[in-house]
Amino acid sequence: MSGDHDDAVISRQVRLLESLLEDKGIVGGDTVDEVIDGFLAGASPLNGAKVVARAWTDPAFKERLLADGAAAVAELGFASGGVQHQRLRVAENTESVHNVIVCTLCSCYPLRLLGPSPGWYKSEAYRSRVVREPRAVLAEFGVTLPEEVRITVWDSSAETRYMVLPRRPAGSGDLGEAELAELVTRNGLIGTALV
Ligand code: FE
Repeated sequence: MSGDHDDAVISRQVRLLESLLEDKGIVGGDTVDEVIDGFLAGASPLNGAKVVARAWTDPAFKERLLADGAAAVAELGFASGGVQHQRLRVAENTESVHNVIVCTLCSCYPLRLLGPSPGWYKSEAYRSRVVREPRAVLAEFGVTLPEEVRITVWDSSAETRYMVLPRRPAGSGDLGEAELAELVTRNGLIGTALV
């Protein structure tokens, strides 16, 4: 797979750069690890849930989120990518459209907002089947959609990551932003759950 291959090449280049920086005394031996650990420690589906709750309660934020996801989540303190700039496209579920994300090539994923990706997301079965038969795959996750609801599958790339904006559950009108965020699950952000 070219994605894994690219990853291996990038890993080698990063290690080389890291040792050069250390040899020149530009960064200390542990600095790079600390930065990466810090990034991963901040990666959680709670972040994506906060973004969703804000979008549900603040229409102007939702508009910005759908127009430019990376800029909007940065407002909440969440950088969407790591070192390189990545576009974040947020796909909104509606009465007539349900969105699902995948990376058919490898396992690209908006890590910061969704946390470490689940094993099934990286599996060959999910990556190939969700494109061919999304309705059947969703049913296996317990999501059965009416026939008239169109399913859109978003295929990630190195430059663009996707996140689903689930529909706000009926009857949640009284809940505040923090309580709303608690309703949102990682699978809801992938599209393999309704919320
Ligand atoms: Fe990928």
